[in-house]
Amino acid sequence: MVVERSDPSPHDGEPRLGLARLFADCEAGFEDARYVVFGAPYDRTYSFRPGASKGPGAIREAAWNFELWNPRLGIDLAEVPMHDMGDAPVSNEDAPDAMVEKVQAFVRPVVRAGKVPLMLGGEHNLAAPVVRALEEAGKSFAVVHFDAHLDFRDEYEGERNNHACVLRRISETIGVDRCASYGVRSMSKEEWRQAQDQGLRFVTNEEVHDEGVPATLGRVLEELDADYYYLTLDIDGVDPAYAPGTGTPEPFGLTDRDARDVVRTLAPRLIGMDVLEVAPTWDHGRTALLAAKLVREAVFYREHAHRQQR
Ligand code: MN
Ligand code: MN
Repeated sequence: MVVERSDPSPHDGEPRLGLARLFADCEAGFEDARYVVFGAPYDRTYSFRPGASKGPGAIREAAWNFELWNPRLGIDLAEVPMHDMGDAPVSNEDAPDAMVEKVQAFVRPVVRAGKVPLMLGGEHNLAAPVVRALEEAGKSFAVVHFDAHLDFRDEYEGERNNHACVLRRISETIGVDRCASYGVRSMSKEEWRQAQDQGLRFVTNEEVHDEGVPATLGRVLEELDADYYYLTLDIDGVDPAYAPGTGTPEPFGLTDRDARDVVRTLAPRLIGMDVLEVAPTWDHGRTALLAAKLVREAVFYREHAHRQQR
């Protein structure tokens, strides 16, 4: 599926999406929306298998599978103003440095307008410019990095904006003390050493298996002690049994319901989220379905929490 968008401005009315559909139930205009979905079709720095650039289209398509009504929470998505702004104007023609500038410029008006950005990707390096835009707008938040990989390399194959370096770049933006990696089970020796030296918090897959999400995530949130959270969700944090459609699958991962519980726990204090590294080339739509569902869970559970407060 090709998603076309030539103009990066969110202010010019309806998204131009060519033949592709919007993320389901994004019926509000930009001005009225509380949630702004956008895609980022980019996978230039993939290390094992390509295809994440096709993620946004597949996730949007998968979203149409689901009902609007959540009987557990009593929330109807038809009453939640969501907007799909189309795709950030990036492609694999862009060098990573150019890509991050473009994504930051694209998301800036969303963040400045106080809306919750929901990015569909695309490889993990796309998350760094969203975090930069939030920081630039003066938001106070911590980042939970859900991933099989630590992504803490200073550079990879000579590239600082490689997808294997995203948590390092994020930590430079907001401070390493405001970051935590969750579900991690793959890193280089040097990465591990630097994480130890800098005091990067991380929870391994084995800790989640042994203690469960409530205990391990609860501990992380207590330590981070932030008012708000940005969740950057690399779908390969989930086990390839549930999420095979990704570029660097890593066995012994978290379950789909572990990921769901992470999203539900963070949702009340979420200021933004992404679901990245979905490469639909490598499965039959299973991973895109999970990604779309996780985005909808975030919206449902954030709305639920905010209605309790209203
Ligand atoms: Mn990653
Ligand atoms: Mn990963």
